[in-house]
Amino acid sequence: MSSNRVFRPSRFTILTPHDAGGAVLYNSLRGSVFYVRDPLAGRVHDLLHNRSARFSADEAEAGPERARLITALAERGYVVPEDHDEGAEAKELRDARLQRRDTLELILMPTESCNFRCTYCYEDFALGRMLSGVREGVRELVRRRHAEGGLKALRVSWFGGEPLVAFDVIEELSEYFLEFAAANGIDYRAGMTTNGYLLTPDVAERCVDLGIRQLQITLDGPRHSHDASRPLMGGGATFDDIVANVRGLAESGLDFSALLRTNFSPSNVGSVPELLEELGGIVDGDDRFQVIFRPVGKWGGANDAGTETATGREAEDAKLALYHDAQCHDLPSGDTRTLRPGGSVCYAANPWSFLIRPNGIVNKCTVALRDARNMVGRLSPDGALNLDDSLMRLWTDNDEAHDTGCQACFFRPSCQGAHCPLIRIQDGVRPCPPQKVWIGPNLRTYADLAAERAKAAADV
Ligand code: SF4
Ligand code: SF4
Repeated sequence: MSSNRVFRPSRFTILTPHDAGGAVLYNSLRGSVFYVRDPLAGRVHDLLHNRSARFSADEAEAGPERARLITALAERGYVVPEDHDEGAEAKELRDARLQRRDTLELILMPTESCNFRCTYCYEDFALGRMLSGVREGVRELVRRRHAEGGLKALRVSWFGGEPLVAFDVIEELSEYFLEFAAANGIDYRAGMTTNGYLLTPDVAERCVDLGIRQLQITLDGPRHSHDASRPLMGGGATFDDIVANVRGLAESGLDFSALLRTNFSPSNVGSVPELLEELGGIVDGDDRFQVIFRPVGKWGGANDAGTETATGREAEDAKLALYHDAQCHDLPSGDTRTLRPGGSVCYAANPWSFLIRPNGIVNKCTVALRDARNMVGRLSPDGALNLDDSLMRLWTDNDEAHDTGCQACFFRPSCQGAHCPLIRIQDGVRPCPPQKVWIGPNLRTYADLAAERAKAAADV
């Protein structure tokens, strides 16, 4: 055998049978998902099931058909040259992320106040508008980072509370970011997580003008279930206003992408298909919109005791079924990046990502806001983050590198042991994401949705 034509199964490849026959192949270092029909699936299984197998792609040795199959698998990364060091490649992926110096990601809270009182919310709304010294600190931080290392990318995510409650803060800082980025050749992108209530057509247009183009808006089912879990502060319905604003977005010619998110629990999950039907009619196949579904959890805070959660395999199955439902209404899943290399890593694990609170406290994670381990620094008006290095390492260096289980995991390139640093910190366990724990149902759904999309495109 000539050595460069000898292959072995990639340690990051997994093959899962499909209920409808055939199998789905996935490689987490390439992010490649591929459906293989029967009887080919059987031949692929024979090649891949023994991790220590070696096989030649030379026609003279393998025969033309098998050689073609091995070559096709190699092109998609499912098999690799026998001497290829995949572990080193996965390590490089993680190291490159950690060593990035030309990117700054800021999750900014212009206020922690909110006009809603969602039943499962973990926030305490204690801090109001971002202080002027903090706003100055944010501007200086961007200036400093660029002066120190030459920023190539600036990513800003507006978060709250409800960010639109302090829209003037967003406008003030966004104008600065736009101008600074344009003057210095920096790729600037911004997004906002909003409850959508104040996102009227005029505000949406202003957001897009300010470069805020990735929107996330939450609707927890049709009117009756959404209004039960996401009422106004002081009570009052919110569904109709949010839907009117989503309609406004859909009818606009604005350049944005919107993730429509639904938080589900056993009590509202059955009503979500009704919402999807309504949204499908509004969005009407507009590819600026995608949907994501998240199980409600006990996310900390005063509401935990009374919060009904969705967990485990049942929650995952419910989520995947909702993606099927959504696809039937031409609402594509916004969850597909989680299978890509690095796609399951939380931003809190990135040394260049910071959450800036209205009082200047610097956090890593957007959930455990009051956990002392999450308060890694304090932004001063001169732009210094005043970071505590050992606290920073808890979030950024507490991952696959120190975990033998992660080192052996087929999902490592996607998760890097850093899906949720908070879980490692608080519970001391590996934070395996649901898409890895239930990889079979996830891959089958991913492949089905891709096939349905391709069919819909062919039907047009
Ligand atoms: S660390 Fe975990 S809880 Fe915190 S933002 Fe990341 S995924 Fe969410
Ligand atoms: S945390 Fe879990 S899924 Fe992530 S790399 Fe480690 S073992 Fe794999």
